[in-house]
Amino acid sequence: MKIPFSPPFINEYVIQEVLDSLNSGWITTGPKVSRLEDRMAHWIGVEKALCVNSASAGMQLMLEWFGVGPGDEVIIPAYTYASTATAVLHCGATPVMVDTDPGSFELSIKNVEKVIGPKTKAIIPVDIGGWPCDYDALYQLIHREDLRNLFTPRHPRQQQLGRILIMSDAAHSIGSEYKGRTVGKLADLTVISLHAVKNITSAEGGVILFNLPAPFQNEEAYRTNKIISQNGHSKNVHEKALNDGWRYDIVDLGKKINMTDLGAAIALAQLDQWDEMQRRRIEIFNAYTQELKSVRNIRIPQRLDDIRSGNGHLFMIQLRNSSVEKRDQIISEMKDLGIALNVHFVSLPQFTYFQSLGYMPEDYPNAVQLSNSEISLPIYPQLTDEQVHFLLKSLNFVLSKLELG
Ligand SMILES: *Cc1c(COP(=O)(O)O)cnc(C)c1O
Repeated sequence: MKIPFSPPFINEYVIQEVLDSLNSGWITTGPKVSRLEDRMAHWIGVEKALCVNSASAGMQLMLEWFGVGPGDEVIIPAYTYASTATAVLHCGATPVMVDTDPGSFELSIKNVEKVIGPKTKAIIPVDIGGWPCDYDALYQLIHREDLRNLFTPRHPRQQQLGRILIMSDAAHSIGSEYKGRTVGKLADLTVISLHAVKNITSAEGGVILFNLPAPFQNEEAYRTNKIISQNGHSKNVHEKALNDGWRYDIVDLGKKINMTDLGAAIALAQLDQWDEMQRRRIEIFNAYTQELKSVRNIRIPQRLDDIRSGNGHLFMIQLRNSSVEKRDQIISEMKDLGIALNVHFVSLPQFTYFQSLGYMPEDYPNAVQLSNSEISLPIYPQLTDEQVHFLLKSLNFVLSKLELG
């Protein structure tokens, strides 16, 4: 039996919505991107949502908008995907990586506190696996008087905010909740990914959710960044067609990071099916939990606690009393049985490029330990009961064989 890791959810309904775009003649940024923006903003309860072509591009766009540049620092977890760091590097600023707490995938607020300084302009919490960070604790920290006094603005927008910006890397956490608030309402800015492997996809894509406090105007922040995202054009092709024809102005140094209507069509069709898709995903999460909670040498992920409700984006297990060799062997034996597993993530200081910048694994021992003991199981709505059963049986078999069961 073949079990791929994370195939996209494409049913007849999704195909029809894409065909509708193809037949309409609007394949790039147009009515469907607008619909997706309105729908996201309304669903999440923020004033404005901006669609771009990836979360990576969206994060970079927003850091630049906030005036982050050379000499500035942005605090990020060492345990994340590379683009959390490269968004900062592309601005010319320095990512300051913090280690995790032992055995926890979450951003360590305690370690963030240690590295906040006068150069800190922003913090990027990452909701790993769809599990929201402790946003209240993070905001409490940055509002602390001594830390607010440290804040040294170098740009009008930094001046206006008067404190460190919180921009959530919510690539994993669309639809997750923290204290009854949906992801998107937890940080000043939130960037969701609609990449092919996430809970909702536009093939490639990202959505920026604007939740800036007064005196910022989210509508204005949206408009400014919308224009930048379409090469600085005052109007995109669709707006030109709707209005007075060919004439446009270039009003800013733009980037070409707009989302296509073809992509938005996939996401809109999936959003229509969100409840069913999530119901099935959570069913699988619960089946894994039920079956694996008593296995001695693995630690299973949480999806619910008193204040949080995760979206079940990943099922991340941690091996105990194991080694990186044994972990790799589990992945390889499962592959031989037709099952694709994955690792989320190799921590950033373990990569050549980040080492070349001076980030060293030995400075992030907890993140490295987590990386070396983590395995992610396939979890997506199309998985059948038969596949789930086969996967669990195979995993138990492989764990026993390696004396971990
Ligand atoms: C997928 C992912 C991203 C990047 O999303 P793209 O839309 O592919 O740019 C960023 N951060 C994390 C944690 C991710 O998993």
